[in-house]
Amino acid sequence: MGKLDSLYARMPVWAQHGAVSAFGLYWYWQRFGAGYQKSLDRYLHRDRLKPEEWGTWQMAALKESLGAAADHVAYYREHWSESEKKAALAGQLRDLPLLEKDPIRANARDFLRQDLNLRKPLVFYTSGSTGTPIASLWTAAELRDSMAVREARSARWAGVSFRLPRATFSGRLVEPDPMSKGPFYRFNYVEQQAYFSAFHLRADTARFYLEAMRKHGIQWLTGYAVSYYLLAKFILEEKLSVPPLKAIITTSEKVTPEMRQVMEAAYKCRVYEEYSTVENVLFASECERGKLHVSPDIGAVEILRPDGTPCDPGEVGEVVTTSLMHYSQPFIRYRLGDLAAWDGEPCRCGRGMPVIKEVVGRIEDVVTGPDGRQLVRFHGIFINQPHVREGQIIQEALDRIRVKIVPTEGFNEADIADIAARVQQRLSAEVNVIVEPVTEIPRTKSGKFQAVISLLGKNRNANPK
Ligand SMILES: [Zn+2]
Repeated sequence: MGKLDSLYARMPVWAQHGAVSAFGLYWYWQRFGAGYQKSLDRYLHRDRLKPEEWGTWQMAALKESLGAAADHVAYYREHWSESEKKAALAGQLRDLPLLEKDPIRANARDFLRQDLNLRKPLVFYTSGSTGTPIASLWTAAELRDSMAVREARSARWAGVSFRLPRATFSGRLVEPDPMSKGPFYRFNYVEQQAYFSAFHLRADTARFYLEAMRKHGIQWLTGYAVSYYLLAKFILEEKLSVPPLKAIITTSEKVTPEMRQVMEAAYKCRVYEEYSTVENVLFASECERGKLHVSPDIGAVEILRPDGTPCDPGEVGEVVTTSLMHYSQPFIRYRLGDLAAWDGEPCRCGRGMPVIKEVVGRIEDVVTGPDGRQLVRFHGIFINQPHVREGQIIQEALDRIRVKIVPTEGFNEADIADIAARVQQRLSAEVNVIVEPVTEIPRTKSGKFQAVISLLGKNRNANPK
């Protein structure tokens, strides 16, 4: 725990609300201060660009950014060949090598644009569910841009705004005491934002989260998809009443159709998905027609086959992205580790931004069969399992899968046999399946839920070069 965190942990609750608000005031100024409105206007103005206009826009932005990287970023100056530097100056993205996470982990400052003379960049860390976190370094202007694009393309598309009271589930240390009897949130009066603790959400605490929403007039919810899904299950199981809400914008984990259905039934409002990363190298948000549009002014996104060629629409491949909005620390052809597919059809909302058909999962979420088959989205085995509150799949060996279950009342031998059969059906009858009922499934350090964990070697996947 850092010094500030341990100071916060010793404060009484009223002082914690105050500290959160003081902290909120500082961040409000950083995020919505001078320049925010102009930035918002720019994003709103680009909302209706046609695909050709986006193409021209992105080509010009890439040329500038890649050229600056070749000239002013230590890492690329050192690692790119002369011909690659030439390609960069000409804006030819596809002739440049892919970028792994390790060199950024080793020295994030090597990726800063030296011509910008950034003395004190803001630092944000990736959650690091696999390996050491990456330090993402930003200017205050970039932070404001990132808020403006969220307002323009997440909040407004969902019919809400950062000006309306909202609640957020995130990895923040909100309630330092794991045994706390509540409250399980702190309120930032500056932004009218309740920070919910993802770590204290249980069947017996669910109603306190709803009371907090009611007390503070919360109108929309944002943050960890799995936390909202879990709260939704508690709402339905315990028949709790929910204050009127306008929308939920989920981040972090992928929303499955089943999760969406449960959440919309519980909260009685629409769920919109946002797909983004801490590094802000990519941004995609859901429009009113339910399609996930990629913002071409945030990052140039490619979906690639194992041999490095671009995938056709509908074909699942690895997501590789080049940061454009976050230009001070440019990550070029950065391997995010996500698997996704393009949608070839234009969206009926009329926007010209490309559409991702689906984000299938993370490369590390892949489960491998004894015959070498690789399966994504394996947690689909929990669909229509009425006695499973949460489930996690851990691949311990090619022929051994452990399934951790948080059961609800009525869970019995038949459920265990059904789960084991579903795993074997997908992989092979030779696979040994251990179904283990547990009281809870631990979250990662940042409070995220991992549906699938593979303990097999890291380099089993296709590595495009
Ligand atoms: Zn659309």
